[in-house]
Amino acid sequence: MTQTGQVRPARYITAADRSTARPIHAVWEITLACDLKCTHCGSRAGERRPNELSTAECLHIVEDLASLGTREVTLIGGEAYLRRDFAQIIAAVRAAGMECTMQSGGRNLNDARIDAAVAAGITAVGISIDGNRELHDELRGVAGSFDSALSSLKRLRDRGVTTSVNTQIGDAVVEQLDDVLDTVIASGAKNWQLQLTVPMGRAADRPGIILQPHRLLELFPKLFDLFERAYASGVLLQIGNNVGYFGPYEGVLRGSGMSHVHYGGCVAGNGVIGIEADGKVKGCPSLPTDGYTGGNVREIDLTTIWLDSPELTFAREKRTQATGFCGTCYYKSVCRGGCTWMSHSVFGVPGDNPFCHHRVLELARQGFRESIRQVALAPGDAFDHGRFVVELETLDGRPSTAESTDRTPRQFDVGSTLDVCYGCSRHVFANTKICPFCAADVRNVRTSYRESLADARNAAGHLLEALRT
Ligand code: SF4
Ligand code: SF4
Repeated sequence: MTQTGQVRPARYITAADRSTARPIHAVWEITLACDLKCTHCGSRAGERRPNELSTAECLHIVEDLASLGTREVTLIGGEAYLRRDFAQIIAAVRAAGMECTMQSGGRNLNDARIDAAVAAGITAVGISIDGNRELHDELRGVAGSFDSALSSLKRLRDRGVTTSVNTQIGDAVVEQLDDVLDTVIASGAKNWQLQLTVPMGRAADRPGIILQPHRLLELFPKLFDLFERAYASGVLLQIGNNVGYFGPYEGVLRGSGMSHVHYGGCVAGNGVIGIEADGKVKGCPSLPTDGYTGGNVREIDLTTIWLDSPELTFAREKRTQATGFCGTCYYKSVCRGGCTWMSHSVFGVPGDNPFCHHRVLELARQGFRESIRQVALAPGDAFDHGRFVVELETLDGRPSTAESTDRTPRQFDVGSTLDVCYGCSRHVFANTKICPFCAADVRNVRTSYRESLADARNAAGHLLEALRT
């Protein structure tokens, strides 16, 4: 119930949402003010932006989002709760029939702020945990921030708020992911979202904290094990759109166990909209401000920006072309080089993403791996980036002067519908006869998979029957 007593249930996601470009999810930085000093912060948050939107302007955005068909608004910062009117904005979002969630570092999410958010009708809150106490405090730049985050999770749960935990996977975090999962389970959170640290903003000033792409070879089996352990404890592990792509764990990790689910390309400006605290609008909140801002709500209305600005329509019109290794990839017609945020932060252009499981597996098959090396610094603005080059290495890390043997564009882009090869659990284009990854006859292995599944279901049915009698 909000202060005005006007919470309206959010609508369901419909088939039309999937076939029409509609900002189902709005991620809204309502202030850049922040009480943490995260070493990986892409927006270099700390101080307010000089000209942040007034309360009246924010309430106008809420109306516009509702009329565009938005279903969920996530408030971010900086720290959203550092705006005095943050609860008023939450109440307005709920009164307009949208879910309202908030992402936070939880350092000063005190009881009064939680109570205000609950009274306003907050749907759920995500809190960041990036490692054990020592590593988290180091990465978040403030001693005591790990304990504050845990305390926030507990006090949110005590008040009945649904909680989730977000973790950035950087180089030092991989070894601590098991500990983080223990923390997530103990906190009572039901959802654990993981994304890779991207070399943007302050993270671009510290390239050593970025996971090297070749470490995805060890990361993905670990994520699979973590998924199973989390699931057994009632926690759903979900990977973000910058944790790329395909490979044998794709359906489990991206589809919460549904094998047919796979990454379908960047959704910036398609199902997602990002708004900065001074009114600039992007197709995804994480994208650079320069080059991806479609307009400012102070100068042009939100609907026009959403419908007509080329900076927001690039992904829905599939204008990104895969380049580099991605230009040679089996999945390029579906994936188009993966997450625009990651690719642009690394190379200054979209369409080539070394942080991809399929890519590291293919390179490893040829005896290679990739590392990135910074060649240009970031200028020091919010959402800025430097530039990196990819270095090809042998699998044991020695520089390689050889070209990857398989870099010529291949004629694989035969559509956009993918099936699963049950011989190797990898996605293949519909109607593929022989799997290009495991050489299985795709139809035969699908038939045996279905037969085994039917047998297993039968056996489980008999077992349940026996247990009941
Ligand atoms: S190699 Fe590139 S195009 Fe292929 S799946 Fe990976 S990110 Fe996508
Ligand atoms: S830029 Fe990356 S995070 Fe943003 S919508 Fe595209 S895939 Fe998702």
